Amino acid sequence: MTRPSDGGRIEVICGCMYSGKTEELIRRMRQVRIARQSYRIFTPRMDTRYAEGQVASHSGSRLEAITVATMREILAHAQDAHVVAIDELHLFDDDPAEMVRGCQWLADRGARVIVAGLDLNYRAEPFPAMMHLLALAEQVDKLYAICVKCGAYATRSQRLIDGKPAPANAPTIVVGGLDMYEARCRACYEPAV
Ligand code: ADP
Ligand code: ZN
Repeated sequence: MTRPSDGGRIEVICGCMYSGKTEELIRRMRQVRIARQSYRIFTPRMDTRYAEGQVASHSGSRLEAITVATMREILAHAQDAHVVAIDELHLFDDDPAEMVRGCQWLADRGARVIVAGLDLNYRAEPFPAMMHLLALAEQVDKLYAICVKCGAYATRSQRLIDGKPAPANAPTIVVGGLDMYEARCRACYEPAV
């Protein structure tokens, strides 16, 4: 159990697109609210799929959030909140090392830090900030989606352009939905070339 008196910790919720990371973040934060702990939820300014000021899962659950671009802004707003949640950590327009340092700083000062984000980009390479946080975290949960090709557990986010795999030299971050990304298993994932 994690109550404020338990001290700081980092929890990472990772997985491919549609694996339920935001749903899980929202579930944990609803419990924090029921426990009447102070909290802040942050969402990156780059994530333009939904209205500013909330985190929203693909299944439609929503929670109010503060839209920011950098770790410096997160730290300015986090103040002495017991719980700091950061959705889509891989999408922040900031130095990955700064993102990691900020999460560590918050946890070292006693906050429960809950981070959700993609572990792998569309080329199936780790996102640097997530990779480090996965190693530093007290708790890691890797979630799975369902492969749209075969129905197995999916761990990869396939980016498609006109139904074909996006080339390896495309930008790493392109925000998009079901028309652009598919959840796929290792066997069905087509590497970018
Ligand atoms: P994430 O934050 O990991 O992208 P969300 O929490 O936003 O995931 O959304 C998860 C929801 O996406 C699921 O509950 C389901 O309703 C929906 N979904 C759409 N496509 C898939 C898929 N291929 N596999 C699993 N869930 C999917
Ligand atoms: Zn598959």
